[in-house]
Amino acid sequence: MSETTARHAPPFFCPYCGEEDIRPFGEAAAQYRCGSCLRVWTLRLSGTTTHTAEVPS
Ligand SMILES: [Zn+2]
Repeated sequence: MSETTARHAPPFFCPYCGEEDIRPFGEAAAQYRCGSCLRVWTLRLSGTTTHTAEVPS
């Protein structure tokens, strides 16, 4: 299993409009559709880091 399809907790809010009316969408893993703004988006893990890692600027 790659990092992009790793299991994750379901999101509670749309990251674009903040509404809670989001549902799984389509066949792709971690793809959701917002019933308020109608955006379809994918929740994707970019990687992992440590507590001491510097924030890239
Ligand atoms: Zn939305």
